[in-house]
Amino acid sequence: MSAPAPIPFIDLTPGEDHAAVRAALDRVVARGWFVLGPEVGAFESEFATASGAPFAIGVGNGTDAIALALRALGIGHGDEVIVPAMTAAYTALAVIAAGATPVLVDVEPHTLTIDPAACAAAVTSQTRAIVPVHLYGQAADMESIRSVASRHSLAIVEDCCQAHLATDRGVAVGTRCEAAAFSFYPTKNLGALGDGGIVITGSEALASRVRRLRNGGQQERARHVEAGVNSRLDDLQAAVLRARLPLLPQWTTRRRALAARYRQLLPSSLRTIRERDAGHVYHLFPVLTAERGVLQTHLTSAGIETMVHYPVALTDQPAFAAFVSHECPVATAAASELLSLPLSPRLTDADVERVANAVATFVKGHRSA
Ligand SMILES: *Cc1c(COP(=O)(O)O)cnc(C)c1O
Repeated sequence: MSAPAPIPFIDLTPGEDHAAVRAALDRVVARGWFVLGPEVGAFESEFATASGAPFAIGVGNGTDAIALALRALGIGHGDEVIVPAMTAAYTALAVIAAGATPVLVDVEPHTLTIDPAACAAAVTSQTRAIVPVHLYGQAADMESIRSVASRHSLAIVEDCCQAHLATDRGVAVGTRCEAAAFSFYPTKNLGALGDGGIVITGSEALASRVRRLRNGGQQERARHVEAGVNSRLDDLQAAVLRARLPLLPQWTTRRRALAARYRQLLPSSLRTIRERDAGHVYHLFPVLTAERGVLQTHLTSAGIETMVHYPVALTDQPAFAAFVSHECPVATAAASELLSLPLSPRLTDADVERVANAVATFVKGHRSA
């Protein structure tokens, strides 16, 4: 009997969208307009509609989307911005890129999203904003975060880089705050064939400032009214994203179905991220175990590829040593226990069953897992 085919963590080659992606690329090449052209404008309005926001501004990547949203709010040098200690480092790097100071706070134990009480405890006279992260595709506890923000007059910029089409109590994420940022890095729920990002907002003034900042701070051609950056979405990526956006609802449904299957099949003793809201879009499906390293090796030898999101809490990253002012024990402990199982719309039911069975076999043999 031959070994079963390996299950990759993710397959980024186009699948059912292949023909539409090729046609999009050909269209842009034939047109010969590659940066801030008609595909970008069209995608901005289509993404705004899909995400329930009045305005959307395409930028170079998700990190820039966060940084430019903060800058457009007037946040920069001397200002503190609260971010969770368990996220992609880019969340905090974006705050630094905006010129502000990230303040790292702990996350909640069952969802690993930012802890509203920790946010409240971290507020100082310099605090200007909170950047909650909808980690793994699930909204942070926004009701509590909004109440902290309104009590202290703080802006909220939501990091929706893992949460395309996610909802929070039935309302689209990113639509009840000053601005929100999305990434189209190839592995995201909506991914390009390279880097890309977008800012959504309900404020026309904020939208036009982000629009200006992404393009060197130009008000009109060659008139730079402020020191912006070069962070433009290009037309090849926008065209690919336009081809994929109509498929995103069905891909999201598929992610939810596969996650539900994992929840049925995985041993109940194994810790998973709690689903607090059915609007979760399952960018990732992590489990937590004290035996993470051995479980990963066990799955690798069964032909199952896994990854860790994230192996180091931001408070334990050398790059952020200067910004550690609060203990983040939940994030630190999770970093040594997290293991993301494969979850992408391309997986079959049989793939997910094979992964779950392999995990169950391991757990049976390792009581302490
Ligand atoms: C991917 C990601 C980012 C950064 O997006 P890029 O497009 O890679 O710059 C920021 N925050 C989170 C939570 C992410 O997952």
